Amino acid sequence: MRQNLTNLVIVIGLLLLVTACFWRSEKSPTVNTPAAAPTVEGQPSNFIADQDNGDFKVDHGSPRSARFAEIDRQIRSAKLLEKAADKLNAALILPRDVTLRTSECGRVNAFYTPKDPSVTVCFELMDHFYKVFRSAGESSAEAYDQMFNAVRFVFLHEVGHALIDLYTLPITGNEEDAADRCSAYINIEYLGKDGVDAVLAAAKAFEIDSKRSGTDRLDLADEHLLQEQRFYNSLCMLYGSDTAKYQSLVTDRTLPPERAGRCQAEYSRSKSSWTSLLEPYRRK
Ligand SMILES: [Zn+2]
Repeated sequence: MRQNLTNLVIVIGLLLLVTACFWRSEKSPTVNTPAAAPTVEGQPSNFIADQDNGDFKVDHGSPRSARFAEIDRQIRSAKLLEKAADKLNAALILPRDVTLRTSECGRVNAFYTPKDPSVTVCFELMDHFYKVFRSAGESSAEAYDQMFNAVRFVFLHEVGHALIDLYTLPITGNEEDAADRCSAYINIEYLGKDGVDAVLAAAKAFEIDSKRSGTDRLDLADEHLLQEQRFYNSLCMLYGSDTAKYQSLVTDRTLPPERAGRCQAEYSRSKSSWTSLLEPYRRK
């Protein structure tokens, strides 16, 4: 009996764990990052593509720490969550409501939670982005702008996980990479300059962060690609979407020509894959 109760507690605990996150495992020994539980895989979706039973909703968390108050104020003021929800609701039908949430999580991360579907971006991750951009010499105002651009990329990465789960999309390979490409695809194809700025800011955060923290065994074992790889992949998606417009990425050798030569085909494949995957769920 006692063993059964213990097992039940463990199972419930696993169900409550997040299943897909944005940032690699944290290295700080003071932070106990739970291992990610597997996503709910292999379960057939009962969702019929012409049923629209849900919407993206918004939930602003109120930070307990004073240091996150300014971030919270700016997110509410810019209606960042509301605008994202409106655009997604105008584009996609959903089987269930999905909450877009900001929250103080106690760790630097963002994640999708399948049970009671929700996308959470932690104030700690936003603050981390702000510090990353400040460390690169940007003014406070510039760092806030870049932070919000990067947060747009993060939200759509987590929305990618949500869509994979809710539509039971057949993703082969690394889901984290698929979510990055989903975010880049939506940003580049549908969000104009804001979307391009989001991809560039995320790429810059990956690059700066990789130089600050280096790479160790945990990073190599992590399901996320290395920050350096996410940096180059993001730039490759952008360059591949319009090689003439983004030629400077290659001219100034930010993107090595050896990779750049394949980016147009790479982006085209990602774009057609995500277009096909989402087609049944587009609002007509
Ligand atoms: Zn992820």
